[in-house]
Amino acid sequence: MQVIHSITELRHRLAGQEQTAFVPTMGNLHEGHLSLVREARQRGGPVVASIFVNRLQFLPHEDFDRYPRTLARDVELLTGAGCDLVFAPDEAELYPEPQTYKVQPPAALPDILEGEFRPGFCTGGCTVVMKLFQCVQPRVAVFGQKDYQQLKVIAGMARQFALPVQVVGAPTVRADDGLALSSRNGYLGQSERHEAIALPQALQALAARARDGRAPREALEAEAMAALAARGWAPDSLTLRRRRDLLPPSEAERLAGEPLVALGAARLGATRLIDNIEC
Ligand code: AMP
Repeated sequence: MQVIHSITELRHRLAGQEQTAFVPTMGNLHEGHLSLVREARQRGGPVVASIFVNRLQFLPHEDFDRYPRTLARDVELLTGAGCDLVFAPDEAELYPEPQTYKVQPPAALPDILEGEFRPGFCTGGCTVVMKLFQCVQPRVAVFGQKDYQQLKVIAGMARQFALPVQVVGAPTVRADDGLALSSRNGYLGQSERHEAIALPQALQALAARARDGRAPREALEAEAMAALAARGWAPDSLTLRRRRDLLPPSEAERLAGEPLVALGAARLGATRLIDNIEC
């Protein structure tokens, strides 16, 4: 497997490739990322993974500086998973000048959920993915459902800009106890790691009551947030949304079987975790 740091060299290496499958990541890889690489391999063409910690999608107080950078280990894991090429540009390569041209997703998507608590996150994510798509020119790009809103925003961007790339979502990979794998799990201390399963459990409980007509949606959500808060978490949001556009379902839709997703974001100590469960 080849590791390439420059856009020029990448383009040269991929020239004429029409079937490239692409997996963008921020590195510090785990089994969740590798499952995306395996999904990409099913597509038949060369598999390219990128590793780039994208400053544009972090707020000033967030963990950009301490985000784990583990390139040598990541390259080993990607080799084992059957990746053909790693694109690992440094900041000077991908952002040689301030990236003032940006992709602005529609307000309805980024202003809710992650966008509400991490302003700029969706724009930063879309902008880097658009730029990486220009570098790699993939036919298929695989994203995890773990970042449910990100997947929706990127799929919408590809559709509305008629990008010649199929955006594919892959299921969330979890640890044996149910915690979604995440590079940020490494920030958790031992007792926090043990406690962390309360987030998927709270989402399971919310999902199980998604069609409960005895309480309005808002009450179910407030109960789920309160349950986490009582355990010492600082929940940003636990909410039931329509899968198709991530907006709140009407009560009639919720009770009539509209496909929903329970989305959660909450801080445990200094670590912010997100997860979701379709219901
Ligand atoms: P990141 O490195 O956090 O930017 O994630 C890169 C890609 O891996 C994104 O498409 C994520 O949704 C996906 N991903 C992260 N964690 C998981 C997981 N546990 N299962 C499946 N995909 C994941």
